[in-house]
Amino acid sequence: MSTLALISDLHSNAEALEAVLRRIEALGVREIACLGDVVGYGPDPLPVTRAVMQRCSWTIKGNHDWGLFHALDDFNPLAREALLYSRRLLQPSFLRPRRRAAWEFLRGLPERMEAGGYLFCHGSPRDPVMEYVLKSDGFLEPDKMQQLFALIDRPCFVGHTHWPGVHGADFRFVQATDEQREFRLEGPCIVNVGSVGQPRDGDPRACFAVVDADRVEIHRVSYDFRRTQAKILAAGLHPALAERLARGK
Ligand code: ZN
Repeated sequence: MSTLALISDLHSNAEALEAVLRRIEALGVREIACLGDVVGYGPDPLPVTRAVMQRCSWTIKGNHDWGLFHALDDFNPLAREALLYSRRLLQPSFLRPRRRAAWEFLRGLPERMEAGGYLFCHGSPRDPVMEYVLKSDGFLEPDKMQQLFALIDRPCFVGHTHWPGVHGADFRFVQATDEQREFRLEGPCIVNVGSVGQPRDGDPRACFAVVDADRVEIHRVSYDFRRTQAKILAAGLHPALAERLARGK
């Protein structure tokens, strides 16, 4: 596999995505793939979807992308409100026919992918769209981890939790930090590439990964989250969705 940049959980954050795409270009990485949650939470679902369609070789379905087309009972109130907003901006109509390509793109996303000898999904190898592999599962849920690892025979890349790091074969989660941002890929492991548009590990910088042969490196990029915050408030979305971008939580 040639060098591949992995982006995930963009969540309609155009400023974060722009900064990440610029950094990927500066790194000289040509191929990009997206592990889902293109939309939800943020203010710019249509521009972000169009940028993904243009720049990514392939994209996987996240739970928020799924939520555009299904009942939202299982989403928390903030996520639900933002998905209704996303639907309003994405749904094609007689007056807005040019949205159709982005709408159908999101509807038709696959749930998993195999490429270059690796596996890719949004959530977990067992339930690729919905299930979380939490960093605490390594010590709190050994049975669950055992079941997940029984399903994979090689590295599996995921997003969904917005916490970058790696569950190794011992199930222990090693979080990606500035000091520990490079990991060797050997045998079964679950690599979380973090979130571009709504980091939750306490670091507000946008996050993405670059896979090169048997190594993965987690990258962080600062971006002007104040612009995104202003757009969230102007769109009438919940202020908590703006506040968390500054905290990265
Ligand atoms: Zn997400």
